[in-house]
Amino acid sequence: MRATHPTRRNELLERATLVLNRSWRPVHVTTVRRALCMVFREAARIVCPESLSTFTFEEWIEQPVPDPARAIRSPSIAIAVPEVVLLARYDRIPCHEAPFTRRNLFLRDDYTCQYCGRRCTTDHLSVDHVLPRSRGGSTSWENCVLACVGCNARKADRTLKETGLHLLRPPVRPRWTPYLNLRPSQQMDSWARFAPEQKRRSASSS
Ligand SMILES: [Zn+2]
Repeated sequence: MRATHPTRRNELLERATLVLNRSWRPVHVTTVRRALCMVFREAARIVCPESLSTFTFEEWIEQPVPDPARAIRSPSIAIAVPEVVLLARYDRIPCHEAPFTRRNLFLRDDYTCQYCGRRCTTDHLSVDHVLPRSRGGSTSWENCVLACVGCNARKADRTLKETGLHLLRPPVRPRWTPYLNLRPSQQMDSWARFAPEQKRRSASSS
């Protein structure tokens, strides 16, 4: 058996794994690397998302690898990358507020200009203060939106009323979820089973 190339192995280890608390509620998203460490230390077990069976590290490495593209191989073993792990002890639900950061704002607005609706790459978008800072507008979830280069130039230091621009939707603080820091492409389909709200969101956006 060929070992996984180190670059490929690192890429697999940095992928996202959903963490469930002891009551099977999603509480966190971690890397495959950290998830495997938790399982190795017996702080968590790996969940098979189809059968919902759980496995210790020793049990998991005995399992057949269904998808070779999602397996880490050494000359002696092949480990399927875990998509979901179940914590052994933690049973609370974390209660966080979504921190106001540039990255989270891009995720909230889905890389989309909130004036013209165009989806852009990061370098064609900037953070616009709906009520300009020069008029006392705050840097907050409720007053900041993404704007493309064109709309940003059009709006400049003016208010919505002065420019005749309209927002696609009112800017609000997003509700915290374990997936807040992830782009949809980083989320696994198998997680939908543990996260009804995610499923609803992807169903409504398609
Ligand atoms: Zn625009």
